[in-house]
Amino acid sequence: MADKPHLSPSTINQYLRCSSQVLFKKTVGPKPPGMALLYGKSTDEAINVDMEQKITTKKDLGSDELKDAFVDSWDKNKTDTEFHTNDKPDELREIGIKAIGRWTDEIAPTIQPKSVQEQLPIQFPGFEYDILQYSDVITVDNKIIDNKTAGRSVTTNKESGLLLVPPEHRLQLTMYGLGYEAVHGEEPSSLGLDYSIKTKEPKMQRAEWTPNKNDKQLAFNLIVGVAEGLDKGVFIPNRNSMICNRRMCGWWRECEAKYGGTVKK
Ligand code: SF4
Repeated sequence: MADKPHLSPSTINQYLRCSSQVLFKKTVGPKPPGMALLYGKSTDEAINVDMEQKITTKKDLGSDELKDAFVDSWDKNKTDTEFHTNDKPDELREIGIKAIGRWTDEIAPTIQPKSVQEQLPIQFPGFEYDILQYSDVITVDNKIIDNKTAGRSVTTNKESGLLLVPPEHRLQLTMYGLGYEAVHGEEPSSLGLDYSIKTKEPKMQRAEWTPNKNDKQLAFNLIVGVAEGLDKGVFIPNRNSMICNRRMCGWWRECEAKYGGTVKK
């Protein structure tokens, strides 16, 4: 994998949201993460502490230990975080502690991991990029689970009662499934998402995604399309993107300077 450049689901999704962000990340460099990323990272690190030891112990750590892991991660990383005027970090930190408690009670007992942060690379013959990606958790019954945090509940399909997995999470899981097949020689038993919703009273939502032939075709085409865009230097500022504002995009000054216009506050 070392010789070829690589693509990951997050780079592909970032390119699709706003390709100019990919350009600025490469030319200007990364920007300090915002509060949402601090929250997501602290949640991931706390969950990893439990899942990594559970591979061998087969037992979950207690709620207090995981809450401590969340707080340790938050406090360690907050100095590198860019907070904005309306952010309420102390409030969100308390929500995160409650949310980890709920994850420990409701989600952890349902998972027996066999690996955490397993690399699921894909190499396509003749294609100049490799796919490099890591799945949060793979269970003993070969289910891939990705942990997500979200500011509001994921919408439910009224007819089926199932959660409507957003397109970028579908793409990510589809790519994990393809990577699992490439590494293990069989499809994973299922692809799932555990959402931790960071409302005042946090809640957990669980979703499943089963890609069909068309979904896999779409994933391949997006991989190829993004690779072509990168090779040809196609970078277009997407001022319609949900993440296009001064709060969520750290490169807004460079973007205004290069392309003109005004990025909204
Ligand atoms: S400011 Fe908007 S258009 Fe410019 S890079 Fe950021 S997200 Fe893209």
